[in-house]
Order: sequence, then C-alpha cells, then structure tokens
Amino acid sequence: MVDIRSVHKSFGPLEVLKGIDLTVRTGEVTVVLGPSGSGKSTLLRTVNHLEKVDRGTISVDGALVGYRRTGDRLRELPEREVLKQRTRIGFVFQNFHLFPHLTVLENITEAPVSALGRPRREAVEAARRLLERVGLADRASAYPRHLSGGQQQRVAIARALALRPRLLLFDEPTSALDPELVGEVLDVIKDLARQGTTMIVVTHEIGFAREVADTVVFMDDGRIVEQGPPGDVLDRPRHERTRAFLSKVL
Ligand code: ADP
Ligand code: MG
Repeated sequence: MVDIRSVHKSFGPLEVLKGIDLTVRTGEVTVVLGPSGSGKSTLLRTVNHLEKVDRGTISVDGALVGYRRTGDRLRELPEREVLKQRTRIGFVFQNFHLFPHLTVLENITEAPVSALGRPRREAVEAARRLLERVGLADRASAYPRHLSGGQQQRVAIARALALRPRLLLFDEPTSALDPELVGEVLDVIKDLARQGTTMIVVTHEIGFAREVADTVVFMDDGRIVEQGPPGDVLDRPRHERTRAFLSKVL
C-alpha cells in the first residue's frame, strides 16, 4: 500500500529525514515510535503530501504521491492530481483540527460534499453510520467545543473515514488527551485495525503498539533505527538507542 524509498527532507540546513525506507502492506498496522524531533510527523506529512520530499519517492496504492519520475528527475504532479490523491489518505492530528463553527455532523459531511461532490443526503447518512461506529450517534448536532477531547478525536476519526480512505495516518492521536480519555480513542483505532484498515500510527502508547501493530518502527534522528514485529522491537530491541527510548516510555 505504501512504499517509501530513500526519502530525504531538509528544512533549510536541518536534515530531518536522512534516507527513509519503509513498506506498509495492505491491511497492516505500522506503529512509529521515536523521541521528539526524530522526524515522525514530517514522515507522515510527506506521505500525505503536506510536505514535499527533496529526494526519494513515495508511492501510495501504486500511485506516486505528488511526484512523477521523468528520466532522472522528480517532477511534481499538478495540484489537482495531488488533491485527488490526498482524498484517498485520511489524516488524524494530535489536536483534532475540527472546524469549530461546524457541528459534529457538518464536520464529517463537509469534505465528502464539497471536495468529492457527493450528494448531501448520502453524505449525511454515511456520517450518521460513522458516528455510530465511533460511539457518538447522539452528538451529531453538538459543536466541537461542547465535546471532551476524546469525543473530539473520535469525530476526527469519523471525519477521516468519511472519505473512505485507503490509508489512515495518525499523528500522536492520544497525546493531547487526559489519561482517562486515551482508552476510548485507542479502542476506536483498534476496531479499525481489526477490520483490516491500513494505518500508520505515530504514538507513544507501547501497550497499543504491542496489541495491534504488525510492524513497529523506531525512528531516531531522521533515520529508521530498527523495525520488525512488536515482539522483536519492543521486547528484544537490537539497538542501544531503541532500548534507551523504551526504558523511558515504558
Ligand atoms: P517528531 O514528530 O518526531 O517530533 P518532527 O518531524 O515534527 O519530529 O520534526 C523533526 C525536526 O524537524 C525537528 O527538529 C523540527 O523542529 C523540525 N521541523 C519540523 N517541521 C519544520 C518546519 N516546517 N520548518 C523547520 N523545521 C521543522
Ligand atoms: Mg510529531
């Protein structure tokens, strides 16, 4: 589903991704761990074309995201193509990013109606089904500010699902939540995993990683230090940097 090859990315003089190679197979959950500043968010953002890469290629579902090879050069795709590809990738942020002036239902129907041109009635029906799935059927007409952080994040997940994405990206989806609200959001993500949703999840929740990840990736300083099944990376890490990191978050 996702094939990342030799991806490099700098911000000015700062090289943030120093040659990333990563493959995510359809239906699998990849959990990305690593210290703050190691490049996890930047990596997710390049997959979704919120950030351009300097070198390397990223393909999602067979299509190069935002880049096209012409001879030896990478050429950017036209913006229209980029937007089309992006609608196939759902992104859930740490801070929910809901539209504050729209109700829960409107937050979910906005993109399908405006970006994809789906009939409103159909989008509303789909949104109600999604709200049921994330346990918020009774909050359709509430505004985000009247919801808890955990509820807002579940709405954000429903909103991402409304585009029927082939791939879901989560960037620390529970880091902004009070501890007692973390479980309800992880439960929704676990449910998606059980249904075979292809996901890349950046998180510090090691228990979650152990339970749902097919592959755990440990990043440090712009590189993937090690990757493998959770039982290997979490319980028998081969690298000192992974061990040091795990000893801090466990
Ligand atoms: P992580 O998500 O692992 O904490 P990030 O990908 O957010 O790491 O950031 C990696 C590094 O890139 C950090 O040093 C950060 O300050 C820097 N960085 C991220 N985005 C930008 C940007 N838009 N401009 C300049 N530096 C950035
Ligand atoms: Mg980050």
